[in-house]
Amino acid sequence: MRLLPLTVAILLLAVPGPLAAAPDAVETAIRPGDDFYGYANARWLAEQEQAGLPDNSGTTAVLIERNKTRVRELIAGFSARPASADERKAGLFHASLLDTARIERLGLAPLQGDLAAIARIAERRQLAAWLGAHLSLDDGSGQQVDAPLGIWVHQGFHDADRYAVHLIQGGLGLDRADYADTGPAALERRAAYARRIAAVLQAAGHSDPAARAQAVVAFEGRIAAVHASAADSADVHKTDNAWSRRDFSVRAAGMDWQAFLTAAGLAANDRFVVWQPGMVAGLAQLVAEAPLEPWRDYLTVRLIAHHADALPGSVTGAEPGDRAAVAVERTRRAMPDVVGRAYAARYFQPTAKASAQVMVESIRTAFADRLAQTAWMGDETRVRALAKLAALQIGVGYPDSWATYSALNVVRGDALGNLQRAERLAYRRALAKLGRPVDPGEWAMAPEAVGAILTLSPNAMQFSAGLLQPPYFDPHGDTAANFGSAGAGLAHEVSHSFDPVGNDYDSAGRLVHWWSAYDQARYTAAGRALAVQIGRNCPLPGSCLRGEQVLGESSADLVGLEVSYAAYRRSLNGREDSVIDGLSGDQRFFIAFARRWRRVQSDAALRRYVESDGHLPPRARAEAVRNLDAWYAAFGVKPGDALYLVPQGRVRVWTK
Ligand SMILES: [Zn+2]
Repeated sequence: MRLLPLTVAILLLAVPGPLAAAPDAVETAIRPGDDFYGYANARWLAEQEQAGLPDNSGTTAVLIERNKTRVRELIAGFSARPASADERKAGLFHASLLDTARIERLGLAPLQGDLAAIARIAERRQLAAWLGAHLSLDDGSGQQVDAPLGIWVHQGFHDADRYAVHLIQGGLGLDRADYADTGPAALERRAAYARRIAAVLQAAGHSDPAARAQAVVAFEGRIAAVHASAADSADVHKTDNAWSRRDFSVRAAGMDWQAFLTAAGLAANDRFVVWQPGMVAGLAQLVAEAPLEPWRDYLTVRLIAHHADALPGSVTGAEPGDRAAVAVERTRRAMPDVVGRAYAARYFQPTAKASAQVMVESIRTAFADRLAQTAWMGDETRVRALAKLAALQIGVGYPDSWATYSALNVVRGDALGNLQRAERLAYRRALAKLGRPVDPGEWAMAPEAVGAILTLSPNAMQFSAGLLQPPYFDPHGDTAANFGSAGAGLAHEVSHSFDPVGNDYDSAGRLVHWWSAYDQARYTAAGRALAVQIGRNCPLPGSCLRGEQVLGESSADLVGLEVSYAAYRRSLNGREDSVIDGLSGDQRFFIAFARRWRRVQSDAALRRYVESDGHLPPRARAEAVRNLDAWYAAFGVKPGDALYLVPQGRVRVWTK
């Protein structure tokens, strides 16, 4: 990665003046009807290529880097000028992680109590209790589960009113496939992993570390053997397994589940969703049968790995990474609402939120109009779709309320203890949700993240403050451009609530199909023309776009564009928009849409993208405008222009 040129690229965008203005001009040497993407983006792309923006990245990558800098500065400010007790705490938390001299000096001393407790595990009941007391807290992605099991407290798949405990597999140091693969590359990865484990066991004072490390790798292989595949774990119809407390001893015999659940603080909970039942059963069997020494060694290795960010690199065997970045990320995760709140206060004021909310509600209104005339929906489905749209909870910028951290004790110089206390607080807060009604306004993403999320269960979506910034959205800028860019993106996401993805979840976020077979057949038929149109586009020799592979996403692009355009026109109340820099409102709307997708992309990256991505490549995404009559009128596109489509060749998926 070329980091330095990227910094230059960010400066170009961030500093107003002639440098920033130039890339925002259209390329008048290109006719919009021949190459609309080039017309809107050629100057910006030339600037970025010169500045060295990495291959296959665009506006979002630039904003992510910009926000990393902002978050780093905010957290540095917590130490220098805290605006609240929580900010002071976050500053202290961050500083303790950066005190590497102290971390090196302490070595494993801060973990001695936990290591001694593992060493004392002499019977299976104690083992079950340890596992229960050391569940990873996950966000539903499965990516934070470094213990054998993780939990995510979230609404159940079938009961939208109450929270359930989702149990998710984890606990592996390598990819699942690496444990059984006998190819030379996997063998080398296992050998390298064993060497790292041996170093950790040696640092923990264990005898015969090399042999015991081999045993740990073999033991993890037994856990890997009962893990579900990534595909099965991502399939909600396979993870939808409701278990009661009693089910554990019947379906996963061998573990003292009473001891496990009591240690987990879940002895009274009776609502579990077990994502990988085979893994839970297999794990219980390992608890019953596997010798205790590899179990203890395995738990030692997992414990140290889990706390690696607060331990010396010489002990954990971790590559010497960027401690500064780790400290920022750990602080963000420990006190997310302190960072999110400070970000919003600085970069997304209430006026920006109010302005974005007006746009969001106008998109909702325009979407209701569209659903009323969507030809592929039968009448019953249309009623359900409209109810689902009305119930959709759309969060804009940042959540309505913030968590505070007066319950968190942050101690200067105790990096590891701080991490542990922050994790315990997050865990207690997650468990405290059990028994409360589900809050669909709860945010699933950080305000400073650059993104949008449609959660489906609950029926909610969020548009982060990190995303709602120029060039996607400017609260004080041009309405036409805001609708063409952020508005089209918002409407794209909303459309997934009603497409084959959203068909899995009803208006309360329950897992249930709500289309009829009639809708299904008509939706498929409506999309066929779009797939054919896409398939005719071959951006490179021998590389044609794959209509079926991208159909869901390109349908969402098209309806997103149509709905946002309708919302934009409605916002004008029958007036014509003003002309800015010689461009009409409609022209600025479509140009902003084409800019939404711009991305530096080499031919090699484009070829890979076409083969594997579920979305159209950037130029083709921008060219969705060919299907809207208004685009032809805005730019005077005529027969003979390269992008011209005869009116009956313009595809409508979501209209009559
Ligand atoms: Zn999408």
